[in-house]
Amino acid sequence: MKLKKDSHQKNIGINGNFMYLPHIHKKLNSIIHTHESRDPFKIAKDKRIFILEEELGEIFGYYNRIKRIQFIHINTSLSEDLKLFVCSHELGHCICHSNENTPQLSSMSITSEMKVEKEANYFATNLIIDGRHKELQLPTKYEILDYYGLPWYLDRYIYSRI
Ligand SMILES: [Zn+2]
Repeated sequence: MKLKKDSHQKNIGINGNFMYLPHIHKKLNSIIHTHESRDPFKIAKDKRIFILEEELGEIFGYYNRIKRIQFIHINTSLSEDLKLFVCSHELGHCICHSNENTPQLSSMSITSEMKVEKEANYFATNLIIDGRHKELQLPTKYEILDYYGLPWYLDRYIYSRI
């Protein structure tokens, strides 16, 4: 699925389709509180999760676990904004799906309807959106996403009056 900004916005509508996942929201709040941070790189370091930046071609990143050691792999060629999102998404898997096999993240799989992918996207979106944008009074979700350097597809995970 190609993400064309114009057609996407028309199809979804500015205020529609908000997805609230309370079990993930609870875990997210607990993590932010425990680590006193929203920085996924810092949280990962505190949790002794290894972050590896590698050449991954079309893949944005993935999570895996060898015995009890957790690894987040991030494509070293991505922009800093996208690295932050990928790290947050994979951290969501480390915390919410630590024993599951989760798919590799790419520009295609970001729109996946798999439960684990939606949960990781929810986790990442709401970890990164920390409220700094509020004083700017950005009128749409898309401007909020742009402000944080997040892909427009994630509109469904933010509340319109956030
Ligand atoms: Zn994922």
